[in-house]
Amino acid sequence: MDDADRAKEFEQMPIDLAIAAARSSTAGLSPCGVCYYCDAIVPPGCRFCDADCRDDHERQQRAEKIAGKRQ
Ligand SMILES: [Zn+2]
Repeated sequence: MDDADRAKEFEQMPIDLAIAAARSSTAGLSPCGVCYYCDAIVPPGCRFCDADCRDDHERQQRAEKIAGKRQ
């Protein structure tokens, strides 16, 4: 299985699992005034400008984790 196959798996992940994963892996991020994905200014207390950025950031993080685990 290569990275493209793994990416497809995540695209097909049931939405509740995807949400749970998103919650767990973004829980450690503290709001810093800018979107963690695109660096746009966001309202105080927000970490992303919208759900798309959060999801994209999440996908990126997961991809990096997978890449890091491969041997
Ligand atoms: Zn953004």
